[in-house]
Amino acid sequence: MNAVSAKYFDGKSSRLHQVRLTVLDGIAHIDEIAGFDSEPGISRSCAITQLRVSERTRHAPRKITFPDGAFLEINDQDAFNTLLKTTGYQDSLVVRLQQSWRGALLALLSTVAILIVLYFYGLPVASRYIAYALPVSFERKMGDGMLAYLDKHAFEKSALSDERQHALQERFQAMRPPLDHSPDYQLVFRKSKIGPNAFALPSGDIIVTDEIIKLMNDDNAVMGILAHELGHLHRRHLTQRIIQSSAIAAVVTLVFGDVSAVIANIPTLLLDLKYSRDAETEADDYALAMLDQNGISPDHLAIAFEKLDKLAPGVSSYLSSHPDSKDRAKRMRTFRPSLSED
Ligand SMILES: [Zn+2]
Repeated sequence: MNAVSAKYFDGKSSRLHQVRLTVLDGIAHIDEIAGFDSEPGISRSCAITQLRVSERTRHAPRKITFPDGAFLEINDQDAFNTLLKTTGYQDSLVVRLQQSWRGALLALLSTVAILIVLYFYGLPVASRYIAYALPVSFERKMGDGMLAYLDKHAFEKSALSDERQHALQERFQAMRPPLDHSPDYQLVFRKSKIGPNAFALPSGDIIVTDEIIKLMNDDNAVMGILAHELGHLHRRHLTQRIIQSSAIAAVVTLVFGDVSAVIANIPTLLLDLKYSRDAETEADDYALAMLDQNGISPDHLAIAFEKLDKLAPGVSSYLSSHPDSKDRAKRMRTFRPSLSED
């Protein structure tokens, strides 16, 4: 039978007893190793389920506590572990709880860490991948749905004359895009109830409002804004954005079982569209390169953003979707991007 030597303290006095610990059929026995004094040696038994065994740590001795507060200290960890193993003893409930409590915390923390990593890195990458893999017909359908929604809630027929619309359209169409595989697009002119605005829908519709054309009062600036939107389209930013927020909404739905969250999400997304800084920089760079290539000074785009920046907050939702306009205008005046397809 395996025996382990241990120090026994009765929990009342500081007196040390050298004992031998053995375990048989789930009962722990300790017997004092005969000393020199004449007192009767300690001898007691206790079911191991009633013992509290301290957690395994690398350096501290294992402590085994009896229900009455007496305890054992064992320095020989290896021998003790072997003893536990041969008796088929599992760590006591408290130890298991302690260990699983730590385990649970660790699991929780790593889950949170994984979610954070997925949210900031995995989700954008996955959305990007999905956005590029989606069939064009799907984007078309999605965009058409959005335009119908916007026409119902935010837009009216443009007040611009057909000639004016055609002139802007032809001018933009004549501009060569900076990269190959430029996306299919069509300009859609609308009068807006939500102020000066322009944005590209996944279908390739680039919505441009009468109000933003009027505010710009400079067709080169309008070309810059259209080029910026074409840049968003080229990178499929809105499609990615929708996939991302649908993914989040889908998770919310899974967790809370509320399908309406997904549906409710779409108009909010459209009216309060916020691209990431990276997406904006990509679209800016695309626009700057396009203007540059077509002999239009990128300053026109900088002026466009400065004009938008001067609007009172809430006047244009283009502002909320394009934060840091001032900083970006500054960058536009100095920075000349070199684009690459990827
Ligand atoms: Zn943008």
